[in-house]
Amino acid sequence: MTQHSIVNGLSVDVEDWFQVGAFEHTIKREDWDSLQLRVGDNVARILDLFDAAGVKATFFTLGWVAQRNPAAMRAIVERGHELASHGYDHTRVFTFSPQEFAEDLAKARTILEDAGGMAITGYRAPSFSIDARNPWAHEVLAEHGYAYSSSVAPVVHDHYGWREAPRFAFNPVSGSDLVEIPVTTAVFRGRRLAAGGGGFFRVLPYAFSRWAIRQVNRQDRRPAVFYFHPWEVDPDQPRVYGAPMRSRLRHYTNLSRMEDKLSDLLGEFAWGRMDALAEREAARSLDWAA
Ligand SMILES: [Zn+2]
Repeated sequence: MTQHSIVNGLSVDVEDWFQVGAFEHTIKREDWDSLQLRVGDNVARILDLFDAAGVKATFFTLGWVAQRNPAAMRAIVERGHELASHGYDHTRVFTFSPQEFAEDLAKARTILEDAGGMAITGYRAPSFSIDARNPWAHEVLAEHGYAYSSSVAPVVHDHYGWREAPRFAFNPVSGSDLVEIPVTTAVFRGRRLAAGGGGFFRVLPYAFSRWAIRQVNRQDRRPAVFYFHPWEVDPDQPRVYGAPMRSRLRHYTNLSRMEDKLSDLLGEFAWGRMDALAEREAARSLDWAA
């Protein structure tokens, strides 16, 4: 039962279990090709979950993953979802020069469009890595004709965040139609809390996410933007023992409960693709150039 008329944005950041930021100092980039690929099976599981709930979503996918899982890319598109870009190999955008970022975008886009057979118009930066350090990244996205980005976490967090950024849709580049749709935050006692998914959804009780999305829909009267990863529905993934305890705790907590929790979330609120959400939000997005 859907309690609200507001359609929220549902997204999956498609990367494999060894490509997460938490393990970047433990698993070397050059070892990726020797590790077991699990993302294809996990995407299949997610597609079934979405069909059961009757929802469509956006899959922000790494070019690296699309190259190795073309069948999963076709399945995403054939089952009515949006395929969008998460860059080529999860390099954080603030580590690029503008030229390198443009090359990464183009490489990922070519691979994704070939694999999925649909135009790529949406982008999400790895680890929400567009912030006060690299506002030029939005200009590069605008130059390359992206319709929207969902790359900003307007909050302070230990790994990411752009605390001054607006909480809802904004136009980061004057003279361009590019819309930035930040990931959801809730406000508690005047402080912004990250509430759009990831570890927060998995580690905290479902009631926290329900409260946050209700606040956004009812008080702010705006859509929420939620994300999760294919490895989060995979309790049997290989364990990475060399990683820091804190990263391991965050990565492995409640994996086996994730699917049920997601079903609750999908059943309780209305969800849809990010491209459609960006189109609706464009009309009321704020002009905000850093
Ligand atoms: Zn990612």
